[in-house]
Amino acid sequence: MYVRDTIAAVSTPPGSGGIGIVRISGAQAAAIGKAVFKPIHDGGLVSHRFAFGRIFDQNSGDIIDEAMAVLMCAPRSYTREDVLELHCHGGWLVVERVLSLALLCGARLADPGEFTRRAFLNGRIDLIQAEAVMDIIASRSEAALKLAQQQREGLLSRSIEKIRSYLIQSLALVEAYIDFPDDDIGDTDLAAIRKSVHESLSDTGTLLASFDQGRVVRDGVSVLIIGKPNVGKSSLLNCLLNENRAIVTHIPGTTRDIIEETVLFNGLAVRLLDSAGIRQTHDVVETEGIKRTLEKIPSADLVLFVMDTSSPFSAEDQLILDAVAGFAVMAVFNKCDLPRTLVVPDGSSFNAQVSITALSGDGIAALKNAVSGYFMVDAERDTRDIVALSRARHRDALVSTEQSLLRTDDLLTDGHLELMAVELRDALAAVGSVTGQTTPDDILDAIFSSFCIGK
Ligand code: GDP
Repeated sequence: MYVRDTIAAVSTPPGSGGIGIVRISGAQAAAIGKAVFKPIHDGGLVSHRFAFGRIFDQNSGDIIDEAMAVLMCAPRSYTREDVLELHCHGGWLVVERVLSLALLCGARLADPGEFTRRAFLNGRIDLIQAEAVMDIIASRSEAALKLAQQQREGLLSRSIEKIRSYLIQSLALVEAYIDFPDDDIGDTDLAAIRKSVHESLSDTGTLLASFDQGRVVRDGVSVLIIGKPNVGKSSLLNCLLNENRAIVTHIPGTTRDIIEETVLFNGLAVRLLDSAGIRQTHDVVETEGIKRTLEKIPSADLVLFVMDTSSPFSAEDQLILDAVAGFAVMAVFNKCDLPRTLVVPDGSSFNAQVSITALSGDGIAALKNAVSGYFMVDAERDTRDIVALSRARHRDALVSTEQSLLRTDDLLTDGHLELMAVELRDALAAVGSVTGQTTPDDILDAIFSSFCIGK
């Protein structure tokens, strides 16, 4: 274990709450506990037992708060160092004062994610598991939480370790022949290396194929609602949100800016973007809104193109049809309660289409199902054992692993050992960066600095 200074931070969110927790980790944690906390019963703090008592300022003798304290002696703690948690009342001032006491006793204010970074550096968890901790905190859907929990439990780490062990075996064989150049590599050993490389390629391919689904589950999807003014976009958004967040009016062009809300469709987190109605206009504000809407099209995972079935297909509809060409688009035919006059031009192609009446809510459930179905999220599906990649960092590392493996496979044909060793080492470095064995410090800094303070 690395020896480091002692860090402290407030681990509960800012603001008022029932309790506020100050967490302290490092060699001085027990001494700080002794200095600032007086248990009601004699005997001091016993590892992993909560004690009730008072936190006091040893200089003034003032009682700061009544509190519970728990000391978790190394290595049985989150960081594998001595950890002290002081659970006091959750007022902003009282928590800050308790933190100040810990700092006065020699602790340093922790950087964002520093507790989890120590857990990683001390070998308690690997980098995938550390990132999963962050995903657990950020989860917005049941499926995202489940996926993050599985990664924290080590399901993905085990798949990565399996690939690593194949690579180590292959590299060991190759290097053995490089060390003894007089021995020609035999068919049996070549076959063994080929088998390992193919196994690794197959496992890497399976993980890479899971990325699209994993990303959708972890991050959710963004869905842009687009359509000319007055077709019922705001009414649709209201139905989807079940509240009156967007203002519905009958004057065309009133939803001038992008409205963004996140909702759950069958367990899928959907970021809904309601856009300004698209039409030719001289109004400066509206023109800006339209520009922003068009800019959002490429970054949306799906566009809902809303049309009014009770009015003919117009030049403005055509403008939108042209703008969304080539993107994932679902046609939403609204106002189905009115007589139909809309005729969509021949040759228009949509990824899916649904008919709704936003005014009454008819067809809204079908629309939600169509959206979640488009992203292949099935609420009923048991995701207990899904091993899925969900971060671009992991995907990128496995793409490099795969490329090195494919080159190794080519080299196997002419048995070029030195070059094979280079490729296998590259593959090992790439796969090791996923779990953190070979991740450079600047990448670690970037990962942990996106954590919250106190985690
Ligand atoms: P937006 O400009 O596209 O956001 O359209 P709004 O949601 O503001 O709706 C424009 C008008 O169409 C309002 O008067 C709504 O009440 C009306 N409207 C919306 N959906 C329906 C529908 O399904 N049927 C009918 N008959 N009217 C609708």
